[in-house]
Amino acid sequence: MFKAILIEKDEAGYRAGVTELDDARLPEGDVTVRVAYSTLNYKDGLAITGKGPVVRSFPMVPGIDLVGTVEESTHAGVKAGDTVVLNGWGVGETHWGGLAQRARLKGDWLVPLPAAFTPRQAMAIGTAGYTAMLCVMALERHGVTPDKGEILVTGAAGGVGSVAVTLLAKLGYTVVASTGRPEEADYLRALGAADIVDRAQFSNPGKPLAKERWAGAVDTVGSHTLANVCASTKYRGVVAACGLAQGMDLPATVAPFILRGVTLAGVDSVYCPRPERLEAWERLAATLDPTQLERIAHEIGLAEAIPVAADLLAGKVRGRIVVDVNR
Ligand code: NDP
Repeated sequence: MFKAILIEKDEAGYRAGVTELDDARLPEGDVTVRVAYSTLNYKDGLAITGKGPVVRSFPMVPGIDLVGTVEESTHAGVKAGDTVVLNGWGVGETHWGGLAQRARLKGDWLVPLPAAFTPRQAMAIGTAGYTAMLCVMALERHGVTPDKGEILVTGAAGGVGSVAVTLLAKLGYTVVASTGRPEEADYLRALGAADIVDRAQFSNPGKPLAKERWAGAVDTVGSHTLANVCASTKYRGVVAACGLAQGMDLPATVAPFILRGVTLAGVDSVYCPRPERLEAWERLAATLDPTQLERIAHEIGLAEAIPVAADLLAGKVRGRIVVDVNR
C-alpha cells in the first residue's frame, strides 16, 4: 500500500484527497519508483482544484514531477537503485503521477538525477525550473547574448519566473523582473534582477507597437501581457513564450514580427525530446547556484499540497514548492 493524492470525478463532483492505494492499482510501465519528493507546478494547481482541464482520465494521481529511487525495472537503461527524475510526458494528466509514495512509469521518460543536485534540489527546480532553462536555451538559439540589452521576465515571482531570473542573471544578462507583487522586490533583486517593473503596465490592451526596450523576454503569462511584451521588444529581439497565467489568448497584431523582425519562440516542456531535456538538466547543473534554490523553494507535506494548490492559482505562492510525499 502507498499514500497518494487521488483526484476523482463522478456524480459526487470533482474532488482531490489523500488516500491509501494498493500497489496492484499502479498503471502500466517498465519501471517502479519509490518517490522521495514531488512538486507543485501551475498545472498541478489546475489539476488538483479542477480549474483547468488538465486531468484526462479518472481517477488520477496528480504530480507532473517526481524524483525517487528505482525499485524494479525491466527497462534496459534503468536499474534498481538508480535515482531518477521525471518531468512531464503527460504524467499527472493521463498517467498516474508524482504526488504519491510510489509510481510506475516508462523508463524512456526518466532522466538520471544530475550529480550536482540532491533529490530535494531537483524538485526545487522541477518542471518550472527546467522550463525556465528551455526558455533561456530558446533565447540563446535565436542569438540573444548579454550584450544585446535587457531581458524581461514576466510572472517573475512565480516558479518559472524565479528560476528564469536566477539563470539569466548568472549567465550575465541584465534582467528586468515584471511582478504584481512589489513586496517581492527584495527577493527578486536577491535572485539577480537589476530592475523591477509593475506587471500592470502589460496587463491591458495596448498598441500594436510600443517603445522598443527588450532584447529578449521570458513570458509565463500570455494574453495581453505577451502581446504587449512583443510590442515593446527591440528590433530582432526574441520572446520565449511558455505560460498562460493571465490567459490562453493572444490578442496581438503581426506588427512586431513583420516590422521589427521579432521572433516568438514557443517552449513546451512536456514532450520536449530527450536530448534537449538532458541538455537542459546539464545546463541547470552547470549554472544554478544551489543556495539560490534554497531562497526560491519551500517544502510542504503531501496533504498540504491540496490547499496550497489553490493558493498557487491565486498567485499567492512565491517561487517553488517541494512536496515531501512521505510526510
Ligand atoms: P506560478 O503560479 O508559480 O507563477 C505564475 C506567476 O504569474 C505568478 O506568480 C504571478 O507572478 C504571475 N501571474 C499570475 N496571475 C497573473 C495575471 N492574471 N496577470 C499577470 N501575471 C499573473 O506558476 P509557474 O511558474 O509554475 O508557471 C507559470 C506559467 O507557465 C503557467 O501558466 C504554467 O502553466 C506555464 N508552464 C508552462 C510550461 C510549458 O511546458 N510550456 C511548463 C511550466 C509552466 P507575479 O506575482 O510575480 O506577478
